[in-house]
Amino acid sequence: MAGQHLKYRRIILKVTGEVLAGAQMHGIDGHLVRSFAEEIKDVKEMGCQMALVMGGGNIFRGAALSEGGVERVTADYMGMLATVINSLALQDALEKIDVSTRVMSAIEMRQVAEPYIRRRATRHLEKGRVVIFAGGTGNPYFTTDTTASLRAMEIGAEVILKATKVEGVYDADPLKYQGAKKYGELTYIEVLNQELKVMDSTAVSLCMDNQLPIVVFNIMEKGNIKRVVLGEKIGTLVSTGKK
Ligand code: UDP
Repeated sequence: MAGQHLKYRRIILKVTGEVLAGAQMHGIDGHLVRSFAEEIKDVKEMGCQMALVMGGGNIFRGAALSEGGVERVTADYMGMLATVINSLALQDALEKIDVSTRVMSAIEMRQVAEPYIRRRATRHLEKGRVVIFAGGTGNPYFTTDTTASLRAMEIGAEVILKATKVEGVYDADPLKYQGAKKYGELTYIEVLNQELKVMDSTAVSLCMDNQLPIVVFNIMEKGNIKRVVLGEKIGTLVSTGKK
């Protein structure tokens, strides 16, 4: 049966905007988006049901915009709209390689995306479509990390795969400190107490309350999404710590 050998059969992949920008740090690197799309296709074809939560930080982040003088709530809505732009970019790349997709937005914009309806989202997954969640939670003062935790719970995902540009969670920024140590496993409490940069505390708390594991991994290395889904120990696993 398809998917029998998989460790995770339904996943949420959280794609931070920064990852889509690649080396240019801003906007969308088309080549990278096409390469992520290929990987997503491979994993889907193994029988894994995949939902993506897109970030928007490569275009706008509410907190940063508000420091520049834009009212915070407006700035957050601008950030949420940025996630829609990223979602459409990934949808385009996936559809071009014959992957059936649906973008579901928490903010209604029927011309470009379906409104988010939980039952419809799970139906799409069952039918083998890749679902792309856009517009965050639809509420200001939240992040797309929290969106990933929330949607994961709603659709019954078994894990959140948090895609980053580094190998996992470190005790210091590995891009700045050569000696930074990578953690193999962490508990939610360790992440919260040590303020480790995994996801924001609201997102981590939500995962903790619902015992939803998070795998932080390097999406820049080809084949890594597949490795995680097959159960290979890469990146950093954040969980209750109980076996
Ligand atoms: N955002 C929001 N509510 C949400 C999700 C996102 O207000 O539920 C806004 C917020 O301003 C955030 C921006 O959208 O900074 C982009 O999302 P995020 O920073 O999570 O993107 P990422 O860092 O993953 O690229």
